[in-house]
Amino acid sequence: MKLIRFCAENGEKSESFKPGLLKEDGKIVDLTTIFPDIPDISRKFFSQGWVEKTAEIDETGKKMDVHLGCPVADPSKIICLGKNYKEHAKEGGFDVPEKPLLFCKTLNTLNGPFDSVEMPRSSGQIDWEVELAIVIGKQGRRISREQAYDYIAGYTVMNDVSAREAQFAFSQWFRGKSFDGFAPMGPCLVTSDEIKNPHDLRLTARVNGKTMQDGNTNDMIFQIPAIIENISEDITLEPGDIIATGTPSGVGIFRDPPIVIKAGDTVECEIEDIGKIVNKFV
Ligand code: MG
Repeated sequence: MKLIRFCAENGEKSESFKPGLLKEDGKIVDLTTIFPDIPDISRKFFSQGWVEKTAEIDETGKKMDVHLGCPVADPSKIICLGKNYKEHAKEGGFDVPEKPLLFCKTLNTLNGPFDSVEMPRSSGQIDWEVELAIVIGKQGRRISREQAYDYIAGYTVMNDVSAREAQFAFSQWFRGKSFDGFAPMGPCLVTSDEIKNPHDLRLTARVNGKTMQDGNTNDMIFQIPAIIENISEDITLEPGDIIATGTPSGVGIFRDPPIVIKAGDTVECEIEDIGKIVNKFV
């Protein structure tokens, strides 16, 4: 299933988003017409079994012009991995980390798959990072790698937009990773049953149509089971939590000469079997 959050095309970014299903032919099923009490796609949606209930319905949907929101609302946390692709670690001149390098993006970064991203005032060197994002489906702590896939609701595409000037000015990455709108995500949440092997997915980023990143999730240093085991050792994962698993090589800052995003640029991030997000920087 491809789960989406949507509102009318001219709708405001607000609580007006509704849960829906995106069908293969592009038609949309408005889940609120079938289940009037269905919650938004957030913690309760996963913990109260709405993924399973939604999987049982057989509706063809309707053609609709909609505005898509970030496919998960209000996660308790967005955890990200740094330097988790071999080729990306190499391009940055980093040593391969011995343990997963974790940082957080704050919730103000959440952004829709086709929404604009505002250029910040306080930092230059804005950069793109296409990433496979995991969405957690049930609460867990001390999850072993053997059990890890049982805790995953699905996958989505995230652009871990990064303000390099702010990121590299300090040893903490918080500022440079957490500007408003710096985590566009979507276009949908693909449930885990549809992704046969999350470690064999092509992921690409294009800037103004030009391919900048073209990698495969098979290049991850720490794979998903190891990531979940490592994080959950002492951090409880909650339903709806997002884990961005790192980016392949080809980011702008490590190019020679570096390339940075300017106002007016459009960045497309795409992952095989999930879809594409397109965000204009303004
Ligand atoms: Mg990243």
